[in-house]
Amino acid sequence: MDFRLNDVQRMMADTAERFAKREVIPWMERKGDVREMIRKMGEVGLFGCAFPTRYGGSQAGFVAHSVVCERISKADSSLRAAFNLQAMTVPYTIMEWGTERAREKYVADLVSGKKLGCTCFSEPNTGSDLASIETRIEDKGDHYLINGTKTWISNGTIADYGIVYGTFDRSLKHNGICAVVVETNQRGWQARRIEKLGDRSSPIAEIFLEDVVAPKENLLGEWGGGFKVAMTALDRGRISVSSGAVGVAQACLDVSIQYANQRVQFGQPIGKFQMVKALIAEMVTCVEAARLLVWRAAWLNDQDLPFTREVAIAKYFAGEVAVKCAGYAMEIHGGMGYSLELPVERYYRDSKLYQIGEGTANIMRLIIADDALGYKKANRPRLKVPSQFLDLE
Ligand SMILES: Cc1cc2nc3c(=O)[nH]c(=O)nc-3n(C[C@H](O)[C@H](O)[C@H](O)COP(=O)(O)OP(=O)(O)OC[C@H]3O[C@@H](n4cnc5c(N)ncnc54)[C@H](O)[C@@H]3O)c2cc1C
Repeated sequence: MDFRLNDVQRMMADTAERFAKREVIPWMERKGDVREMIRKMGEVGLFGCAFPTRYGGSQAGFVAHSVVCERISKADSSLRAAFNLQAMTVPYTIMEWGTERAREKYVADLVSGKKLGCTCFSEPNTGSDLASIETRIEDKGDHYLINGTKTWISNGTIADYGIVYGTFDRSLKHNGICAVVVETNQRGWQARRIEKLGDRSSPIAEIFLEDVVAPKENLLGEWGGGFKVAMTALDRGRISVSSGAVGVAQACLDVSIQYANQRVQFGQPIGKFQMVKALIAEMVTCVEAARLLVWRAAWLNDQDLPFTREVAIAKYFAGEVAVKCAGYAMEIHGGMGYSLELPVERYYRDSKLYQIGEGTANIMRLIIADDALGYKKANRPRLKVPSQFLDLE
């Protein structure tokens, strides 16, 4: 067992760290346009770790994807969403399940940040229970026709392409779900921005789909096989989400250490007080444990091994750790934690999402407990393995 990053992973981590300092922090200060930032991130290859070179990737793998995502999320947790949409849940899903034509048309442009993606699972009446999707997808012979409403769609107002999950027959539940790539520059795609607590650099929208059209070649997987597509997309998305949670937790720890060393009360830095030390020790331990869980899940993916259970554990724990560390950072900073002058309040707002998005904490607990109790095995053999997409030497 080797817990060290290899040369490529370390190089990617350093690239992301430098990019965060050089580009992300000044961009946040001037409240720049998110499209511009995603394009820059794509240009320097931050989304391409898990992709073969023919799609503009570096083949550095999922652990590298995780370390890059963590480093960017440490600077701005809401940019973590882009790692899902420009890497895992959109282009990777198209690469894994799409037709050759869809792969050629969409994957490289998303990975390079030239085009923006979004993933459309959630609806006003469908959140955790994906099999209850109401959006209708009809097979019209030479194209698909889509009608329905999606909500909470990250980058929904700015995306060029979306993967829309719908059903052709609700009575079939899981077996009626289909996944289709949709181009958003059509009249039937209308997005309404939703305001929210945190994740301010990732615009969220409700999407109204009225007679939206997609060509037959844009179906992902089989007709009625969209639930399986969704489950693999969510597994991969959970690698980014849990990495992002570690990033924001690390940010909370870093500012807390700095503040505990500089803030003096009762004649000494507050870090000298045992109760403050206890918070720091808890944060250090939790951040490191969360990171190792995320790396384990990403590593399994790099080895072509099933990782649904391990990524659920990682996502659950890292989400809890992000929220805990944000609360502790707030406590260590006293009144300054509550101030808009320091980033602690942003970490506090952003961290909560990690217990909600990409499967809530309860849904992760269900996956973990059902597997442990023998009710439902989480890890099943995969139909497709990451290495089959890689370019050979
Ligand atoms: C900032 C943000 C960005 C998002 N981005 C996207 C996106 O890009 N695309 C997209 O499709 N969706 C997106 N979502 C939606 C997100 O995936 C859902 O909010 C999430 O899956 C939970 O669904 P819900 O909100 O409908 O909650 P519900 O499913 O209604 O759950 C409400 C509560 O009930 C609990 N619960 C539900 N079922 C069970 C059960 N069986 N056992 C125990 N407890 C249960 C949940 O854990 C939760 O605590 C985003 C959400 C947010 C907040």
